[in-house]
Amino acid sequence: MHTDRGVAALAQLIAESERAVVFTGAGISTESGIPDFRSPGGVWTKMAPIDFESFLASEAARRETWRRRFAMEEMFRDAEPNRGHRAVEALVRRGKVSAVITQNIDGLHQASGIPPEKVIELHGNTTFATCLDCGHRYEIDALRIQFEADGAAPRCIRCKGWVKTATISFGQSMPEEAMRRAQTETLSADLCIVLGSSLVVYPAAGFPELAKRNGATLAIVNREETGLDRFADLVLHEGIGDILGGAVGVN
Ligand SMILES: [Zn+2]
Repeated sequence: MHTDRGVAALAQLIAESERAVVFTGAGISTESGIPDFRSPGGVWTKMAPIDFESFLASEAARRETWRRRFAMEEMFRDAEPNRGHRAVEALVRRGKVSAVITQNIDGLHQASGIPPEKVIELHGNTTFATCLDCGHRYEIDALRIQFEADGAAPRCIRCKGWVKTATISFGQSMPEEAMRRAQTETLSADLCIVLGSSLVVYPAAGFPELAKRNGATLAIVNREETGLDRFADLVLHEGIGDILGGAVGVN
């Protein structure tokens, strides 16, 4: 569909909705300079991610996990919300969107001004770390200074547990409360807007599918084809910032 008609069609669906939910993936953050690790040619095709079992089992794996994370710190720290994030924030602020369910770990939805309680992070958040045993929070900068001084994977000062970014690694169980909230929001929505996800990573990608099966309208904006294109009411293979920014009236 031509861009102008796509913008108008999406604007129409948003106008008709009384309670929408937004589901976002890596594609919304690539416009902020954060790469899609899963994409062809992405980081994970060159360097396999370290799974949760290895992190727990091996000091070498923990060190390598942290070495990689610190190497990406400038990128995460400097990334700013883009037009797509700002358009989503406007929809939340106007009361049109009740929640943003995201596969992203970059915290950019919160940085755009959306109240944290309205952002449901299915894969956690990499902008801070927690102790795996007691949950105590740690800031990345402080961990980095310590790591550069002694080269050891960080341990909790309270309980000696392993400290890890607050993300969900491969092999780590999905966060129960986030999954439950995502399901509740999905089942309450009459419109689900997917932004920048190829909808192939389950169980996360199951939410747009659930919305559609529950009778909601499904709109997808993603550069590439997705696993749910044939079920969707509107599919736009274009950039998120231009399409959603245009539909919402945000620059
Ligand atoms: Zn602890």
